[in-house]
Amino acid sequence: AERPAGEAARRRLGVMGGTFDPVHHGHLVAASEVQARFHLDEVVFVPTGQPWQKTGRAVSAAEDRYLMTVIATASNPRFSVSRVDIDRGGVTYTIDTLSDLHAQYPDDELFFITGADALEQILSWHRVDELFDLAHFIGVTRPGYELDDTHVPRGAISLIQVPAMAISSTDCRARVAANLPVWYLVPDGVVQYITKRSLYRNPDA
Ligand code: ATP
Ligand code: MG
Repeated sequence: AERPAGEAARRRLGVMGGTFDPVHHGHLVAASEVQARFHLDEVVFVPTGQPWQKTGRAVSAAEDRYLMTVIATASNPRFSVSRVDIDRGGVTYTIDTLSDLHAQYPDDELFFITGADALEQILSWHRVDELFDLAHFIGVTRPGYELDDTHVPRGAISLIQVPAMAISSTDCRARVAANLPVWYLVPDGVVQYITKRSLYRNPDA
């Protein structure tokens, strides 16, 4: 209603960042729920860059994580995958992801979708106002979760509750290493890709 006559509506673009090692149905349900509830035109999944140093566990190769994310999202016309963080390389910072996507889609309104755990890390960042200038933040939580949003500007964050929150990539990797099935936790094509590439067989690799 505030829009000047004749001006096109801004496209609403969801941004779902993650390691996606592997992508699972928790990610997909969350993205689908936010897409519908916030009337997003598209949700772009953005696999993180490859860390230079090993900080703890070795993350799977960026191309494997990228391809699994493509396989998982290919059938949904509203889902896509971006290589910005993979092509930049190194550790991914949300400010860089959002700056690059803003440069690529200057007319789009950005909605950054993140789980409550990742949201708390982001909110502890000292230049958080720069993030809120670039995107609206949507925190995906499990029922009953309370966010400490004392220092958050009004309207900068929305919280929504989604089903399937119990699935994690950590658990999927542990299941593969223990020879337990990951069918129905990740899309069928991702199960097949994990087998084809022998991912997660050796937890210390
Ligand atoms: P890991 O166990 O390795 O930390 P993960 O399952 O948390 O992996 P990430 O790639 O780290 O997956 O998560 C990407 C984004 O998706 C983060 O914002 C995270 O909070 C969110 N997320 C992870 N699991 C779920 C889930 N089951 N439901 C909704 N959101 C999720
Ligand atoms: Mg995580």
